[in-house]
Amino acid sequence: MKALVKRNAQPGLSLEDVPEPEVGINDVLIRVDRTGICGTDLHIYKWDSWAQKTIPVPMVVGHEFVGEIVDVGSNVSDFKAGQIVSGEGHVVCGRCRNCWAGRRHLCADTAGIGVNRPGAFAEYIALPMTNVWQHDDSIDRDIAAIFDPLGNAVHTAISFPTLGEDVLITGAGPIGCMAAAVARHASARNVVVTDVNPWRLELAKQLGATRVVDVRTESLSDVQRELGMKEGFDIGLEMSGNADAFRDMISQMCHGGKIAMLGIPTEELAIDWNDVVFNMLTIKGIYGREMYETWYMMSVMLQNGLDISPVVTHRYHYTEFQKGFDVMLSGQSGKVILNWQ
Ligand code: NAD
Ligand code: ZN
Repeated sequence: MKALVKRNAQPGLSLEDVPEPEVGINDVLIRVDRTGICGTDLHIYKWDSWAQKTIPVPMVVGHEFVGEIVDVGSNVSDFKAGQIVSGEGHVVCGRCRNCWAGRRHLCADTAGIGVNRPGAFAEYIALPMTNVWQHDDSIDRDIAAIFDPLGNAVHTAISFPTLGEDVLITGAGPIGCMAAAVARHASARNVVVTDVNPWRLELAKQLGATRVVDVRTESLSDVQRELGMKEGFDIGLEMSGNADAFRDMISQMCHGGKIAMLGIPTEELAIDWNDVVFNMLTIKGIYGREMYETWYMMSVMLQNGLDISPVVTHRYHYTEFQKGFDVMLSGQSGKVILNWQ
């Protein structure tokens, strides 16, 4: 089968013929239909320091996908050929305390699809049945392909109740933009999104941000005054991984404000802890998606009218993968979909 492979320890990816995956007795074999390119895939493509210490080569990459089941292992009775499914990108151990307690997103022994085990940028992928999510028939295929990052956005955005609250989102990447749509769907009042990239701030508007802020030219305190906010943001969703953005957020929160932090800082990050202590802020780290409450919530919100379709800005055939990675690298894209049919 064809697959996008990190063949050698250097930048780039190659389209290669690799053996089809073997299907274990507990596995489901899926013919991949569409995939989304994630920031993680860009790290692997660029072969930065994180990728160098994390990815064994060769490795079939990619983890955002939708496809159709074509075969199941002998132990599998809940899935059958023809069903439209996506895969949860974290394969957990199933035996640690958190797994036993049903808190699988907190498993200490998590393997990542397309990171530590063969990924989804391929014609076929085999996954344990416990990692397979069956979609509603009505689901749009492009949206189904990006349930993994939509799940990051949903997991973060509904960490704290947003009904009537003023929400600050730092970072208008695809996940920050989807989080804006989710926060609006979940009845936030103001949803203010910051970035340093005007193209992406435009995208955030399309996804429902009530006010976008280019922090290079505008300050958040001025924006708060303009919006008549007197006491600071109630909820912060950190989606940039940028140290200045996070420091700015901490200084703009109300007393008792709650921050959910998805963005991965690329360096050590110092903050003013006095703000955290004296303003009694709560900071909660977010990793992945809750298995499978986040998946359930995503499905329900989409059925209830959540519209994230503007976040998909580019579509290519998998043979044109280079164009997809180039547009992602340019910063002038939302989600980029590769079609594997
Ligand atoms: P992205 O890199 O596409 O978006 C980040 C955005 O932050 C960019 O648009 C960038 O211009 C913006 N930014 C940079 N400096 C800024 C500043 N000073 N103020 C405001 N914005 C600024 O990333 P994404 O794919 O949307 O993901 C969002 C973040 O979440 C990334 O840090 C990513 O690594 C992280 N992530 C975490 C998990 C997890 O499980 N914790 C999962 C997926 C992604
Ligand atoms: Zn575990």
